[in-house]
Amino acid sequence: MRAAVLAEVGKPLSIKNVPVPEIANDEVLVETKFCGICGTDLHIVEGKGYVPKLPHILGHEPSGVVAKVGSSVKTLKPGDRVVPYLFITCGTCWYCRNGRDSMCANLKGIIGVLVNGAFAQYFKAPARNLFLLPENVPFDVGALMADAVITSVHAVYDRSNVKSATSAAVIGAGGVGQIIIQLLKDLGVRVIAVSRSESKLAVAKSIGADEAWKAGEPNIGARSREFAPDGIDVVFDCVGSDESMKDSLAMVKRCGRIVMVGEEDARFPADSTEIAQHELEIVGSRNGSRSNMQMGLQLLSLGVIKPVISDVFELEDVNKALDRVRRGASGRVVLKVG
Ligand SMILES: [Zn+2]
Ligand SMILES: [Zn+2]
Repeated sequence: MRAAVLAEVGKPLSIKNVPVPEIANDEVLVETKFCGICGTDLHIVEGKGYVPKLPHILGHEPSGVVAKVGSSVKTLKPGDRVVPYLFITCGTCWYCRNGRDSMCANLKGIIGVLVNGAFAQYFKAPARNLFLLPENVPFDVGALMADAVITSVHAVYDRSNVKSATSAAVIGAGGVGQIIIQLLKDLGVRVIAVSRSESKLAVAKSIGADEAWKAGEPNIGARSREFAPDGIDVVFDCVGSDESMKDSLAMVKRCGRIVMVGEEDARFPADSTEIAQHELEIVGSRNGSRSNMQMGLQLLSLGVIKPVISDVFELEDVNKALDRVRRGASGRVVLKVG
């Protein structure tokens, strides 16, 4: 099969012919249709954060069709349209038993990140990691379920204080930020989108953000207090940089919450006095759980989540696609594989 292979950190991927993955009894072989690309792929290529064994096949936002099932698999059959849950978990640790699948203490892999993924004609997954893609959700959109959609659902419904929030800010209006905005508007929350990119701010407005503000402006705290009397109830930081974290702190109200979604190596720029005296809630959010998969697929099917796909590339042009992400696309970048 054709696959885009990372042979050396920091080097472009190369298109190679490699063997089709062999499946165990409880695994499923999937013929890839589309695969999304995000900043995590850039991190892997650059050797930051995740370190898979090389050579490695990236691709952690795929959709596809079941090609073959292992002998013990009863829940899926060839032809089924599927998307994966990425974390290959033990199912028995404290985290797995408490619905915190992405925190599994005995993680056996993350599809496309720590084990081979879907920048290839076929990828494999344990049967219990595959979810049926609703018929009315096309493959390009369905591909975004495994990362952009689940991450947004988890951040809003599990990790934020959205039940008591009337105002929110979403810093970083890329793939994840745009879906968070759609979820918040569906819940009736007033939303400010914050970004360095004029084109992302324009997209944010077009999908319902009440305001679209440039990141890093000195008066962002004062403007937030004009938007909502005491400041913002919940700030989603989808960037994780020095600048975005400073903006988060300037915008959030006392007793408000900052949900950290973006992952960089920047340190949080608040002193203990500010956190204590303002009773700030600063929580992390990573991908999501199997139940978030179910919910995200329903919200895609209902049209509540409508991911914005800005760029489609062929598998052969994977390096151009990575470069598009690097330079900042206005929506999600996807590879058309099959
Ligand atoms: Zn991703
Ligand atoms: Zn576990």
